[in-house]
Amino acid sequence: MSTTTDVIIIGAGAAGLFCAARTAAEGRTVTVLDHANKAGKKILMSGGGRCNFTNYYIEPACYLSQNPHFCKSALSRYTQWDFIDLVSQYGIPFHEKKDGQLFCDNKSSDILEMLLEECRRAGAELQLNTSVEEVRKSDTGFTLKTSAGDYSCRSLVVATGGPSIPTLGATGFGYDLARQFGHQVFAPRAALVPFTITDQLSTLCKALSGTALPASVTCGDQVFNDDLLFTHRGLSGPAILQISSYWTQGDTVEINLLPAIDLTEAFKEAQQQKGKTHLKTWLASLTTQKFAEQWLAHHQLEDRFLAETGKKTIKALAESLHQWRVKPAGTEGYRTAEVAIGGVDTTELSSQTMESRKVPGLYFIGEVVDVTGHLGGFNFQWAWASGAAAAEALSGA
Ligand code: FAD
Repeated sequence: MSTTTDVIIIGAGAAGLFCAARTAAEGRTVTVLDHANKAGKKILMSGGGRCNFTNYYIEPACYLSQNPHFCKSALSRYTQWDFIDLVSQYGIPFHEKKDGQLFCDNKSSDILEMLLEECRRAGAELQLNTSVEEVRKSDTGFTLKTSAGDYSCRSLVVATGGPSIPTLGATGFGYDLARQFGHQVFAPRAALVPFTITDQLSTLCKALSGTALPASVTCGDQVFNDDLLFTHRGLSGPAILQISSYWTQGDTVEINLLPAIDLTEAFKEAQQQKGKTHLKTWLASLTTQKFAEQWLAHHQLEDRFLAETGKKTIKALAESLHQWRVKPAGTEGYRTAEVAIGGVDTTELSSQTMESRKVPGLYFIGEVVDVTGHLGGFNFQWAWASGAAAAEALSGA
């Protein structure tokens, strides 16, 4: 026997739960299927456990896609202010960390509990531990064979996210389903992900592991100003995660490790005022003790009094700090990536409704779609906005 509902949503993550609650609230019967044993695992992990659920400054320019205009409609119809209203209705305390990034004061589970409560109130059914084995188009919609029995529905929403962090239940299932129905999928690659480095830099990165500095990181014509973190495996921190979305294998990244000052000018002043200070001590005052030690050693620069430090040394030091050119060996991949770039080609979806232009009744929302946000709450806002766009269409369907 098969269970029949108006709408089946595959994926009980951010986009799927949000879409389920809004669709069910409009009177549609909705079942959400997920193969995981728990809904919203990425929400729980997000924002270092505090879920950066949106950003005050949502703009289409903060999203990468082969079709940059696609995200505009959904983002303008369900905005960050709408989600902030919802969070406020639930009395969830939150704060702006920096640059408009909104985090829960307490735990990410506040957001997940809110979404689950919205689903409960609206009567959306949640069916966990359920693997979808087969999806077919029928005359009236879709039929699904699952590990929990057969389902049929008028509309099917694919909200299975991207392949990053497979241990959280992430799969490429949504891409396979899209291909099955004749959709093009842009090959995904890990984004918002730390870089790994070549052997040449490995000793330096290991020695500096845990050191964070404000940096300006450039790749092509993209620049991000934020913290950079040295790790045992290479480079991380928000500035690196952001630039990783614009980086492709073989690219060189240029890093300014002292973006707030001109080292040569600062040196001239320091040389006059503190000639008896060692170069290392002076550099430590601009960065950290550990950094100054390791950096001078790595670049084989002599640690003399500033008064005795020559122009050549300062030129080399300034260049190394202001224009540090790094050719990453790669990225840490899906194991640690926050998102995947690529996904279902948006030219084959309606930007108003997220519905397939090829298969009526089939919808794609959230990260499975070729829309990827910058770090800072942009990806969740896309999950809410694309989920809301589909819900609006499903409610009227
Ligand atoms: P997901 O939330 O990934 O949900 C997909 C769901 O589909 C999952 O429940 C999964 O189990 C299910 N699924 C997958 N395959 C199948 C299948 N074959 N059958 C059945 N179910 C399936 N973004 C932000 O904006 N702010 C942050 O603070 C933030 N922090 C992050 C931290 C980490 C560690 C990670 C990994 C990501 C973070 N992100 C953040 C990105 C954000 O989590 C995602 O962009 C967002 O969760 C995408 O929502 P989604 O609903 O499309 O997919």
